Amino acid sequence: CGIVGYLGNREAYPIVISGLQRLEYRGYDSAGIVLNNDNETNLYKAKGKVATLKKIAENKNTKGKLGLGHTRWATHGIPNDINSHPHFSNSGNLVIVHNGIIENYNTIKKELSARGYTFNSDTDTEVLINLIEEVKLKNNCKLGKAVQLALTNVVGAYAIAVFDIQKPDEIIVARLGSPIAIGIGEDNKEFFVASDASPFIEYTKDAVYLDDEELAIIKLGKNIRIRKIQDDSFVEPNIQELKLNLEQ
Ligand code: GLU
Repeated sequence: CGIVGYLGNREAYPIVISGLQRLEYRGYDSAGIVLNNDNETNLYKAKGKVATLKKIAENKNTKGKLGLGHTRWATHGIPNDINSHPHFSNSGNLVIVHNGIIENYNTIKKELSARGYTFNSDTDTEVLINLIEEVKLKNNCKLGKAVQLALTNVVGAYAIAVFDIQKPDEIIVARLGSPIAIGIGEDNKEFFVASDASPFIEYTKDAVYLDDEELAIIKLGKNIRIRKIQDDSFVEPNIQELKLNLEQ
């Protein structure tokens, strides 16, 4: 179970795929990647190894400067292609990768179903991305706010990364109980997101580790903004310098 994301001016695919391979030690049963290239979004996912995913994607369109990748350790829904992440919301605009468990997903799923939402997978994660969509539509708010409000209704544990294909200059990241690190490129021209810093240490030494109950708004060209999910207060980002551990 791992997350890797890239937003910047390089091609995301090679960075995300090799990042996923670096996180393989965490264990997983399936893998997937979404790539956003101007007006085009491509999704590849497969049960099995990152190498299998790579085989599927390598002859297809992998262009895009925004990418999110995931290795899944199934908790809700068997390991198969459909249950693999990333997952999209019903509108097709919002996309998520998630590590962890949404304990009250069934209650939320019933409420969303009553409002007309449908689900392709058996995962708790697809429920969460549709909850975020419903909150966003109902409050007519920005994605960061919608993710925050949705998470106040969630019981469970998570590291998530979410973006809106209509606004491909922004990734929202949040954490409760599962690790997530953000790598910051020079002048905020590129950002990396990962379960640990190993996927991006070769690109930047500046990293922020989210604490539990924190949400980060990552936007190209801007300083990252961090908020407490429950009380909405701002947190000053604690940017740390990564050091190579040569004694492993
Ligand atoms: N609960 C989610 C699922 O089963 C995420 C599992 C994970 O941490 O990879 O799809």
